[in-house]
Amino acid sequence: MSDWFTVEKIDSDTFVISEEQHWEETHCYLLCGSQIAVLIDSGLGVENIKAVVDHLTQLPVRVVTTHCHWDHIGSHHCFNYIAVHPLEKEWLSGHFPLPLEVVKKNLTLSPCCFPASFHLEDYQIFQGIPQQLFCDHDIICLGNRQLQVIHTPGHSPGHCCFYEAKRGYLFSGDLIYKGCLDAFYPTTNPQQFYQSIEKVKHLNIKKILPAHHDLQIAPSIITNIYQAFKSLDDQHLLKQGSGLFDFDDFQIHI
Ligand SMILES: [Zn+2]
Ligand SMILES: [Zn+2]
Repeated sequence: MSDWFTVEKIDSDTFVISEEQHWEETHCYLLCGSQIAVLIDSGLGVENIKAVVDHLTQLPVRVVTTHCHWDHIGSHHCFNYIAVHPLEKEWLSGHFPLPLEVVKKNLTLSPCCFPASFHLEDYQIFQGIPQQLFCDHDIICLGNRQLQVIHTPGHSPGHCCFYEAKRGYLFSGDLIYKGCLDAFYPTTNPQQFYQSIEKVKHLNIKKILPAHHDLQIAPSIITNIYQAFKSLDDQHLLKQGSGLFDFDDFQIHI
């Protein structure tokens, strides 16, 4: 198997599949239940993540999507069961908000040793019809495990986090990570981002599992991000075009 992906065990039936060599440092998560497995996001799409997933489980796999940005849906075409939030369904049917050329530019922003099988000229943004749409509060059942859908718009209109209450896991997508939190482009909404942080702040979270960058991330970062948004809001800066603000562990770009 290609060494593009790294796999780490979170616990006996949860894995993180990462693309550490790329500047985006993406993380997808494989959760194995007693009946099905769920793959949260499918990565950049420069290498087939399904081969890695098939190596880890023989269960039927459903792909659930934190949001439909290109770096989270890259290998969706390799799976036959895809779930997304309805607000981003059209992005998969000819209305993706970024031109392919811009996506390719982002993909190759920093020097990177891509897999030998990858050819930039063949790269496509996933388009297709999802098998399932999920909404706020929906429960995704894996048999003995349950994931709660938490609609957390702001970074994108249909962004969702997935919360596994029993283990205290929050799969936080692009809402929470150690890096630059983006709410500066047209399809973002800084006020909604702030409200979404407030929404997850009340959950009993033992572990944050982000979609990018450092995996060592303390749940207390949520309070810090909340306070940062609050201070920007208090200064009437929580609107697009305000700029880039640094808070040590994370930045907010609005
Ligand atoms: Zn994103
Ligand atoms: Zn992302």
